[in-house]
Amino acid sequence: MTKTHYFSPGPAALPVPVREQLARELLDTFGMGVSILEISHRSKQYEEVNARAHAVARRLLAIPDTHEVLFTPFGAQQHFCLLLPQLTSPGDTVAYTDTGVWAHIAVAEAQASGRTVEVVFDGQPNYTTLGTPSEWKIPRHAKFLHLTVNNTVYGTEYARIPSGLGVDLVLDMTSSLAARSDIPWAETALIYASAQKNFGIAGCSLVIVRKDVLDASRPLAKANRLGNALSYAAFFDAKSILNTPPCFPIHVAGRTFEWMEAEGGLAEMERRALQKAALVYGEVDRGFYKGRPEKPYRSRHNFVFSLPTAELDALFVAEAAKEGLLEIKGYRTTGGIRCSMYNGVSLESAQTFAHFMDAFRTKYG
Ligand SMILES: *Cc1c(COP(=O)(O)O)cnc(C)c1O
Repeated sequence: MTKTHYFSPGPAALPVPVREQLARELLDTFGMGVSILEISHRSKQYEEVNARAHAVARRLLAIPDTHEVLFTPFGAQQHFCLLLPQLTSPGDTVAYTDTGVWAHIAVAEAQASGRTVEVVFDGQPNYTTLGTPSEWKIPRHAKFLHLTVNNTVYGTEYARIPSGLGVDLVLDMTSSLAARSDIPWAETALIYASAQKNFGIAGCSLVIVRKDVLDASRPLAKANRLGNALSYAAFFDAKSILNTPPCFPIHVAGRTFEWMEAEGGLAEMERRALQKAALVYGEVDRGFYKGRPEKPYRSRHNFVFSLPTAELDALFVAEAAKEGLLEIKGYRTTGGIRCSMYNGVSLESAQTFAHFMDAFRTKYG
């Protein structure tokens, strides 16, 4: 069988050593003939798994003491809704950027919630740039500015996370957590990231919340009649074991964070992401291929480009599949090619893909 290089936009490739470790653990995780799939969430074994996952997240991401960490079930879209009644009340003003498919849904949820939504940057319809933060007109009374740090569908990402804008940030880092070290902590109110891209598997989210924001969320959630079991404070107070948690996804998140730590940590993950991206964009910039986003906004994880014709796009996908390069078809609305390389994709896979781009250009260009 040809070796597989898996470039799925999400759920995405896990590091092979983590999959091997998990395969062993599925038979016996705790040396007592019981696996993480079965262990009681009230057992001391699971308490250790849970504590380890929190601790490694804190270490790897260098989360300062000003912020708390918790795991919830839910994906990112649930957080679009859940954060509103915990950080704001109806009638409050919130600022958003509309930079892609996910950001657009986040804006729609905020609008539906009765908040006054100021879209300070609107990338529609092409979503090829992320704008110029210094030009954004953020209302002075805005409770926060919501940013989608990486846009998986259109392949755009802030080269630096905007900061110094005089407003608290809420960051959707679902496809960028654990690959960048420029989080402006002091002004970051909330970060959420659902698992299955740079870390973990689907089924849980990592939430990082500034302490004063968490405290303020308690009365707000009550006043806004959010059910207690949906509140960040309840998850935090219960150390993320409020009710039966997604034990396995949280364990896998912890295992992938541990792998990243052993591989050299956050700085190394960031360096590798940029190195893998440079290999692909290097090929794009040699011609024949046309990159979709404007250059300063290129994503370090999702490489979106097209070939001269739709027929060549399809041929590229088909020939790549023959060589084991999988899941690179563009999103249904954008067409073209989208190749995604999160932390679990090896440098070798990136090199293989870049070589394939080169060979395909030579043959058909
Ligand atoms: C993948 C992705 C989402 C969607 O995540 P779900 O957990 O499926 O809701 C949202 N935002 C960003 C930035 C993403 O990359």
